[in-house]
Amino acid sequence: MNIAIYCGSSFGNNPIYEEGTKKLAKQLAEKNFNIVYGGSIQGLMGTISNESLKHGNKVYGVITYDLVDKEIENKNITQIYKVNTINERKEKMEELADAFIALPGGYGTLEEMTEVLSSTQIGYHKKPCAFYNLNGYYDKFIDFLKNCVKEGFISSTYVDMLIISDDIEDLVEQISNYKAPKNKWEK
Ligand code: AMP
Repeated sequence: MNIAIYCGSSFGNNPIYEEGTKKLAKQLAEKNFNIVYGGSIQGLMGTISNESLKHGNKVYGVITYDLVDKEIENKNITQIYKVNTINERKEKMEELADAFIALPGGYGTLEEMTEVLSSTQIGYHKKPCAFYNLNGYYDKFIDFLKNCVKEGFISSTYVDMLIISDDIEDLVEQISNYKAPKNKWEK
């Protein structure tokens, strides 16, 4: 199984984020879940890739040609795919992955994750979407999504489908047992 990891190109201000990322890399390697990610060595992206390699895991990176120098490509990974645009990068990562996990991150991470979430709604894929909720990082985001449900802009089905945990075993178990909801138009 390939897991796409969306995470910050920064470390955040609390060492808990890097420590948690290292733990995730180790536990996913133990379960032979390969990593798909954005190909960079920066921030938590660097941590997830290097730690996964350290534990003997396969790591597939997808990066745009123009970010190779700016975000700095990790040259040690199993395979790097270079693409022309950020949209192609997202598309390739989505194609390679069987499931998605968001770690703490910024706009890039949120953009990638919200794209796969909205793609579930319209039936573009049926893959599990999980938040590794380290240090409660996503609590307020989840609250916001619940408010979107309350205000009638997101169906509760597409918030209930989210896998949210700060426990890696629990995350992996929920990913393994995931049953995708019907998309908006499925009867
Ligand atoms: P961030 O969470 O902002 O630190 O970014 C994490 C990753 O998302 C980096 O590899 C960014 O290049 C990538 N990224 C930035 N902008 C976008 C975007 N609009 N769509 C998808 N990924 C992006």
